[in-house]
Amino acid sequence: MSTLKTLNNADLEFFQSIVSRERFSTGESELDLHAHDESGHPSQRPSVVLWPLSTQEVSKIVTYANEHKIPITPYAAGTSLEGNPIPVRGGIALDMRKMDQILEVHPQDLQVMVQPGLDFKTLNDKLKKHGLFFPPDPGATATIGGMVANNAKGIRAIKYGSTGDQVLSLEVVLPNGQIIKCGTRAMRTSSGYDLVRLFVGSEGTLGVITEVTLRLTGLPREFMAVVACFDSVEQATQTVVQMVQAGLTPAALEFIDTEIIQLVNRFKKMTMREAPTLFIEFQGSSRVALEDEINFVKELCHGNGCKSFAAGVGREERDRLWEARYSVHESIKTAYPGQHGYVVDVAVPISAYPEIVRFANEAIASRKLVGPAFGHAGEGNLHAEILYVSPREQALAKEANNAIVHKALDLGGTATGEHGVGIGKREFMQREHGASLELMRQIKNLFDPNGIMNPGKKI
Ligand SMILES: Cc1cc2nc3c(=O)[nH]c(=O)nc-3n(C[C@H](O)[C@H](O)[C@H](O)COP(=O)(O)OP(=O)(O)OC[C@H]3O[C@@H](n4cnc5c(N)ncnc54)[C@H](O)[C@@H]3O)c2cc1C
Repeated sequence: MSTLKTLNNADLEFFQSIVSRERFSTGESELDLHAHDESGHPSQRPSVVLWPLSTQEVSKIVTYANEHKIPITPYAAGTSLEGNPIPVRGGIALDMRKMDQILEVHPQDLQVMVQPGLDFKTLNDKLKKHGLFFPPDPGATATIGGMVANNAKGIRAIKYGSTGDQVLSLEVVLPNGQIIKCGTRAMRTSSGYDLVRLFVGSEGTLGVITEVTLRLTGLPREFMAVVACFDSVEQATQTVVQMVQAGLTPAALEFIDTEIIQLVNRFKKMTMREAPTLFIEFQGSSRVALEDEINFVKELCHGNGCKSFAAGVGREERDRLWEARYSVHESIKTAYPGQHGYVVDVAVPISAYPEIVRFANEAIASRKLVGPAFGHAGEGNLHAEILYVSPREQALAKEANNAIVHKALDLGGTATGEHGVGIGKREFMQREHGASLELMRQIKNLFDPNGIMNPGKKI
């Protein structure tokens, strides 16, 4: 990696000849826009931003970069939270957002083939007329390529699985410029090694994804949402464990701590009860079946001391609820202007969920920091946004985050539930993967011997 080089004028001229003047920039503002993501990791500018339009263009750029040992970092919507698309070694930021076409829709097979720069919200708008949707939803307006590369999850993963679970096949430009296809349109396969799964979550370190075939799901006919409030975090998180253990399959099961409810109330002018809360959604084909499930959930909630249980809210109210959930990040930013957020993202086996939430709250409070907790509880996933201003507070936030990650690993969990490794989680990879990490390094070396693809990330 130390042999990676800085771009010179001849390199820039070559890239401009590939993508044309309008899709090439060395302008200050574009370099700045591609120097960061949504995390607090230090910014680093690329030397040039390129916007390819086709797989052939990507291949020409990558082939040249490989021959000249120029770093390339794929960049999409830049909504990552672990520094994943920050071009830490400079070089090329390969902005994929102009490759945003739907290439094929196969409604009869519940499948769609897209270019990676399409964002999932636009995809879902266009799929409505077919009665289909792509379920993963990270809240931020992320692209399909960025979601595949980070294996994004979000609120609906408990029912529908991760982004990776929806990927049937991929077209990828390898670091030597070769274009390969992996996977098929069959719903299941036992053929060969599963390269699709290798590229899923590879964070742009093994190649550039240029086409994605996704499995889709029929739009559910009925929705029902529940808001359940408790006196204590322990009661709320125990209810989550019991729901999952009982085999219930809500479409979302989110934990939100009191302080976040307060902040969202202020930000969205809402009047939610200010207490540890669960947002739960059920989807299905008939209202009667949903009501049965909700009655069971109600019993569980009351058995755990639930203080208020509002069920059966209609589609409009349910949309308002998710709008509130999605405004968590903005609500925190607005309430604490000028402060930075250190975002915690761990996941544990479901029975350990109450313990990781208790531990995280204690790890943050004992350092006299503010860090309200929330998460995709049904998936054993916990987030907290630990706030800091001074370098001392930043060091304490990092210390608290490290303690939480080590606790998650002690409990049989993972350092990153859904945001990926990026820069922020690299230091935990040895502990999480042990001897397997060396095998991962060999795989990276096999694909990318010159280390040009998103250097400094993941492993
Ligand atoms: C408010 C907020 C809430 C969020 N909530 C969630 C959540 O609930 N769940 C969740 O999972 N995430 C969440 N995220 C994180 C983020 O939205 C996801 O990680 C998302 O997948 C990033 O997609 P992107 O298009 O922004 O990609 P980027 O951030 O631009 O890039 C992500 C990674 O993918 C690589 N990449 C991009 N395109 C390609 C390509 N074509 N080929 C190869 N590599 C590529 C990049 O190099 C980088 O490593 C949240 C973010 C924000 C800001």
